[in-house]
Amino acid sequence: AADISTISEKTLNSILEKNRTYSTQGKVADYIPELGKMDGKAIAFSVVEKNGRVVNVGDVHKKFTMQSISKIIALMIAVNEKGESGVFDKMGYFGTDKPFNHFSNLETTGKPLNPMMNAGAILTTSLISGEGEKPFLKILEMVRYITKDQTIDYSKSVYESEKSTGHRNRGMFYLMKNNGLISGNEDQLDNYFKQCSIELTAEDLAKIGYFFANQCVRFDGDAKYKNEEVAKLVESQMLIAGMYEFSGEYARTVGLPSKSGVGGGITVSVPGRMGIGVFSPALDQHGNSSAGYHMILDLVKQYGLSLF
Ligand code: GLU
Repeated sequence: AADISTISEKTLNSILEKNRTYSTQGKVADYIPELGKMDGKAIAFSVVEKNGRVVNVGDVHKKFTMQSISKIIALMIAVNEKGESGVFDKMGYFGTDKPFNHFSNLETTGKPLNPMMNAGAILTTSLISGEGEKPFLKILEMVRYITKDQTIDYSKSVYESEKSTGHRNRGMFYLMKNNGLISGNEDQLDNYFKQCSIELTAEDLAKIGYFFANQCVRFDGDAKYKNEEVAKLVESQMLIAGMYEFSGEYARTVGLPSKSGVGGGITVSVPGRMGIGVFSPALDQHGNSSAGYHMILDLVKQYGLSLF
C-alpha cells in the first residue's frame, strides 16, 4: 500500500469522481423537514494527517449539520467530567442490530445499549454538568476547539425542526426519566437537538477524526485535552456502534473507528495516523452517507488503512 504522506488532491479527486454517482443513488434524510432541503448532490472529501497537513477536495466550504457525530464529543466531555464509570454505570458498551432511534432495551434492562444510539446519547448529554444551555455550549466550544474555528455555530432552523418533530427522542427521554436515569427537565433534550444541529465542513470532520486518532491531541499539536484512555474509549464505541446497525459489516470492510450522521457526514479515525472527513447527504438504507462510505472504502484499500 502507498504511504499516506503521498495523499494529494489528485488522489482524493480521483476517488471522489469515481464515487460521485453514489450521491444520486441514496436519499437525503427528510424525517426532519429542514434536513430534506439539503442539496443531495453535494460532495466533499478531506484528510488531515501529521503536523496538520490538510488535503481537501469537492464542496469543501459546504456546511452541513453534524447530527450523530456530535455524540462522540458529548461522550468525551461527559467522561472527562464524570469518569468512565459515571457514564457507563447508566448504559452499556454494546453493539447493535437496531437503527439509531430504536428504543432497544429501555423497556427490559432499562438502560441504553451504548452512547452512540439516540437513547444513550441523550442520556450522555444529560450527564454533562450545567444549567439550561450550558452543556450544549460545552459541546459547541469543544467542536470549536478541535477544529480551531470559533465561527462554528448551530443551525437554529434545523434545531427548531428537530425539536418539533423529535417525538421518538422525547419518548426515550421520558422513559429514561421514568427509569431514574435522567433527572433534569426538557432543556436537556433541547441540548441534544442543538448539538445535532451544529454546522461544519468535511475538513472539520477530518480534524475531529484526527483528534481521537491521536489521543485527543489537536491537528496543530495542541495537547490541552490529551488523554489516551478517553480517545481509546471513544474510538472503541465508534468502531462497534458508530455506523448504526451497519457497524459490524463496516468493521469488516473499512475496519476503522468511524461515526456517521444523518446530515451526510462521516468522521474516521486512523489510530495514531490521521483523520478523514466526508460529506454527501444522500444516505443508504442504514442512514450512512452512500458516496461517503464508498470514498472511505477506496482510500482505505489504496493506503492499507484498515486496523485488521
Ligand atoms: N438528530 C438526529 C436524531 O436524533 C440524529 C440522528 C443521526 O444523525 O443519527 O433524530
